[in-house]
Amino acid sequence: MDLPRAVGGSAAGGRGRYGWETRRLGAGVTMPRTRDVGPIVLLGPPGAGKGTQSKRLMERYGIPQISTGDLLRDNVQRGTELGQAAKAIMAQGGLVPDKLVCDMVRERLNQPDCRRGYILDGFPRTAAQAGWLDALLEEKFFDNPRPTQAMPIVVRLDVDYNQLLLRITGRRSCPSCGRIYNVHFQPPKVDGLCDVDGTALVARDDDRLEVIKPRLEAYERQTRPVADYYERTRRLVSIDGDQPMDKVTERLFSIIEDNQA
Ligand code: AMP
Repeated sequence: MDLPRAVGGSAAGGRGRYGWETRRLGAGVTMPRTRDVGPIVLLGPPGAGKGTQSKRLMERYGIPQISTGDLLRDNVQRGTELGQAAKAIMAQGGLVPDKLVCDMVRERLNQPDCRRGYILDGFPRTAAQAGWLDALLEEKFFDNPRPTQAMPIVVRLDVDYNQLLLRITGRRSCPSCGRIYNVHFQPPKVDGLCDVDGTALVARDDDRLEVIKPRLEAYERQTRPVADYYERTRRLVSIDGDQPMDKVTERLFSIIEDNQA
């Protein structure tokens, strides 16, 4: 079986409390790897750490990260019809029309690697997208009633505004392996180069100060109501995203695993 890489700890494995396969991570922590995890929705403003935490969730549970920002950037780079429609909007920090984003997400969620679950990073971002996702999950549930498909685990990462600015302006990534760095908090060993493969790191086009403001405004105006919606329906868990990254990860794992128990 193709196993996701362990997040530290020894590689000894076994059968878990619920009968699914596990890998021991040390200190009595075990990782379910074959069980359904279901949809996980990560909410939070740009720079809250959704991308970083998604990668850790991916490693632990062996489910894909679906970042609508990454999918859109890929479309822009390939010059697809969707990419051409999205390019100027993204460059100005606005939101791409719901219909385009929802069609793209539907297609991605139909891929076989999403069967056990997936992490939605940057989606839903508007009330219409949240309603669309609820309807889709319900439809999937009645199509194939797997209990985990109907109810996403929704987690919001809350981060102080000034901290967000430092995180966004300092953000660099490796175009080759996707690893994320921050020149203020988590610089690479050699300035400007990826620790893993030595590729020159790049900053995102929309991480410039003049684009950050409209992006944060779009979050406040359009995405905050999404969190309110999940809160009203008692589906939202908030995490203090100002904590050290490992603490945030620990808390995320425990929310997800408590939900599975
Ligand atoms: P992100 O990488 O999540 O910060 O997204 C980068 C940009 O892609 C955003 O500023 C939007 O222009 C666009 N985008 C990403 N996700 C969505 C979404 N769910 N709805 C609309 N636009 C999106």
